[in-house]
Amino acid sequence: MNKFDIARALDDISSYLELSESNRFRALAFERAAHSIRALDAEPADLIASGELVKTPGIGKATAAIIEELARTGKSKYLEELRTQYPAGIFELLRVPKLGLKKIGILHEKLGIGSLDELETAAREGRIAPLKGFGPKTEQYILSGVEKARRRESHFLLPIGVEVGEQIREHLAAIEAIEDAEVSGSVRRRLEIIRNVNIVIATRDQEAVVRALSKFVEKIERIDDDTVKAFARNEIDVWFHFAKPEAFGATFLVTTGTPEFVAAFLERGGKLVRARTEKELFDKAGLAYVDPERRETGDDLKHKRHRRLVEVSDLRGTFHVHTTFSDGRNTVQEMLSSARDRGFEYVGISDHSPAAFYAGGLSVEQLKLQHKEIATHEPDVAPMRVFRGTEADILPDGGIDYDEKTLKKFDFVIASIHSRFQMPKDEMTERMLRALDNPYVTFLGHLTGRKLLSRDGYTIDYEKVFEKAGQRGVMIEINGNPNRLDLDWRHIRRALDLGVRFSINPDAHSVHEYTALISGTWVARKAGLTPKEIFNTKPAEEVAEYLKARRA
Ligand SMILES: [Zn+2]
Ligand SMILES: [Zn+2]
Repeated sequence: MNKFDIARALDDISSYLELSESNRFRALAFERAAHSIRALDAEPADLIASGELVKTPGIGKATAAIIEELARTGKSKYLEELRTQYPAGIFELLRVPKLGLKKIGILHEKLGIGSLDELETAAREGRIAPLKGFGPKTEQYILSGVEKARRRESHFLLPIGVEVGEQIREHLAAIEAIEDAEVSGSVRRRLEIIRNVNIVIATRDQEAVVRALSKFVEKIERIDDDTVKAFARNEIDVWFHFAKPEAFGATFLVTTGTPEFVAAFLERGGKLVRARTEKELFDKAGLAYVDPERRETGDDLKHKRHRRLVEVSDLRGTFHVHTTFSDGRNTVQEMLSSARDRGFEYVGISDHSPAAFYAGGLSVEQLKLQHKEIATHEPDVAPMRVFRGTEADILPDGGIDYDEKTLKKFDFVIASIHSRFQMPKDEMTERMLRALDNPYVTFLGHLTGRKLLSRDGYTIDYEKVFEKAGQRGVMIEINGNPNRLDLDWRHIRRALDLGVRFSINPDAHSVHEYTALISGTWVARKAGLTPKEIFNTKPAEEVAEYLKARRA
């Protein structure tokens, strides 16, 4: 097992443990271990051999033993045992909006529910409402949620596709008959919701490759001469497309799609001829290369020259970082040193404001303590600059959740909505416009509040909000949390035209979540943004000056 397989098994253990009240604390340990394994630069097997595994932060004695077993045998007795205690379909219940592992555990324990069908029947018969912590409202919500869950059955968030693709490529690298293998399809286009994973394989011996596939995918099924479909990790369809090495380019281009893009490519004189790379095909047709993220339509084929889109390495710093002062899982010191270790020139700390009481929003008193704490650790991370900010709630009336005296003290203010999501469109728009008029607001946070596959965003008049943000010079964040990816890339161009600028923010609640800058960059690239259109590609000096000037 490689590190991804192992991390996945640890995640599974964590999920099973979270189902039962008495194990919830243990679940955290496995979740942490999975995070640590994913973040490793080396393979667990090597660390075991050198005795370093137990020294890795986030990995304890118990988790280390299981990791060793997984690396050695590809199995964990503990996980197998947990599996036998629950029905096979129990995790499909997670697709029901607002139904978390804790509630699922209760439903299973009290009512023996282990599938969507059983959940629906129980809700219809009114057996859920009497349970402690549920009630008639929740029962009703679950009932409508089952319908949604069924529709979402085969939809996945992009990071799952990226991870599965990467895992499979690692397995493929060990197969001798393969000369090259790349992920194509919607995962390569970085579409936020995907249905399957596509892999293009360059080989002269297709049959040998197909035989080897059974080591890491199931239900292998031949579709046509060059295509095989399979099932990975018990959840997701994978399509393998075979090409001779000298024709790899065309297969890569066609299976990356979209069909609309490919049609436009052909219309503009492109030909699907023998070529090892896509680049050759663009060159032969005299077309500028179009990055895969920009291939939802054929629009970019009009461009005379290739425009370099923003890359994660262009980001020199980051805003929207939480700490244990509110609902973050790492301390100020940990968040700062992790930012420094990642090579940032600056980091902007922003915990919640009092209205977000459930997230431990900071009173003015606590803010003082936080600023003291930052000042204590600032010298250790120099020359990285630390900006003191807040993620302040936009109150229902559009006010910002600190008084003016307090707002003045921040280097930057992210204004976000965390309550009353259901407001009618006009009211919600008014609320946002009022917030944008507040002179202390620097960024708008996660503009629509959407949670992909579970919660639609609030409805606003985008045009009005963008126009106002452009006029007031308030930046809109591209929230890179892979569950949010908010603002939607489809809206970004229009906002840009109305004078809005953007910042890619991770909304990090732990040191691991700085990686949300990667997913945030996917969104920016998908919208066609270049480095100069992103605020946090600018050097520290320029950013500091801008923030200072804005406060004045
Ligand atoms: Zn927020
Ligand atoms: Zn946040």
